[in-house]
Amino acid sequence: MNNKEIFFNYQAQTTPFPIGLEIERAEGLFIYDTNGKAYYDMVSGLAVTNIGHRHPKVLNAIKKQLDTHLHVMPYGEFIQGPQIKLAEKLNSILPDNLTTSYFVNSGAESVEGALKLAKRYTGRQEIIACHKSYHGSTHGALSVSGNLLKQSAFKPLLPNVNFIHFDEMDDLSNITEKTACVIIETVQGDAGVRIASQAYMKALREKCTETGTLLILDEIQTGFGRTGTFFAFEQYNITPDILCIAKALGGGMPIGAFVSSKEIMDCLTNNPMLGHITTFGGHPVNCAAAVANIEVIEEENLIEGVKEKGELMKQLLSHKIVKEIRQIGLMLAIDLESDEITQQVVEGCMKKGIITFWFLSCPASFRLAPPLTITTKEIELVCKGINEVFDSVK
Ligand code: PLP
Repeated sequence: MNNKEIFFNYQAQTTPFPIGLEIERAEGLFIYDTNGKAYYDMVSGLAVTNIGHRHPKVLNAIKKQLDTHLHVMPYGEFIQGPQIKLAEKLNSILPDNLTTSYFVNSGAESVEGALKLAKRYTGRQEIIACHKSYHGSTHGALSVSGNLLKQSAFKPLLPNVNFIHFDEMDDLSNITEKTACVIIETVQGDAGVRIASQAYMKALREKCTETGTLLILDEIQTGFGRTGTFFAFEQYNITPDILCIAKALGGGMPIGAFVSSKEIMDCLTNNPMLGHITTFGGHPVNCAAAVANIEVIEEENLIEGVKEKGELMKQLLSHKIVKEIRQIGLMLAIDLESDEITQQVVEGCMKKGIITFWFLSCPASFRLAPPLTITTKEIELVCKGINEVFDSVK
């Protein structure tokens, strides 16, 4: 069998239309296929490679850790250098109440841990989430993802999950003394970059505090500079009780975390003890990569200029076939006339060597989320290419 046949037959498929690009290597803003063709990675492997592919500092940290030790023990037993360095680093970039990190392997796992922690800490059962949200594909994370189509074949899911509308002030009255937590994306990603008002986020925070409900902010997609600040919640002047992070945390390596206060987090150590367990969570190589990744963001001032770059993209992509662009930092959703036109545009861009992608809950729209390292010149070149694709659409 050739590689394509093996991919389609021996590797589990979840989409009937995989892009099927065969990868040779990746570097910075570019991914190269096995024919040597270069592609602008304008989605950062879906909000992962915020500092570009294979940053030398991340590679060095990985290599150094490879020479020291790999896995030694399940999470939380031994003191491992890369884990404590990462916990300290996260502590230094997060608000005062978010002191303590629990490391996991992915975004969905960080959501699972956060939901369990909120139930355990409050002793309550009800969870509130938002319509059109996406928090991951495991049973718990799927239960709080407001996409009925994706949920329907996998029921029963978690009980006591109720949905409210994102950015809908009136719906906040559903949060009561019975609610363990509200889980919400600070900016809804897969709903097509939905940005809530300042007043809504402030009222949400207040309502949670008033009712003793924990506020879980999912910054798995918005984290690590994507929206123009380290985390999007900084732009709302609010702080969550539990923060979920993953994706761009590891600089291209798989790692996630849920972060809270020591007081809240401590309840995972008793009744029952080992309240959350993971074998591989906080793998030393991934933690070393994550520390280097955060240092790169800081040392290279990568967040500076993100807002301006995003606004430039928005401006350069205003074309007669574009209905609306929602943008915050380098996170953009471009609405077109129909699903079919979106398909044509995504495919047209691919032919031109520009990788874009769809959204889960917004089919007539495509996403752009390039590495924060993209230059103004590169933005101009890519947007020129995308405009040529817009011109060619029938
Ligand atoms: N939360 C948000 C906001 C996401 O965008 C995603 C993934 O797209 C997840 C959670 C799930 O993360 P993972 O795919 O690492 O499980």
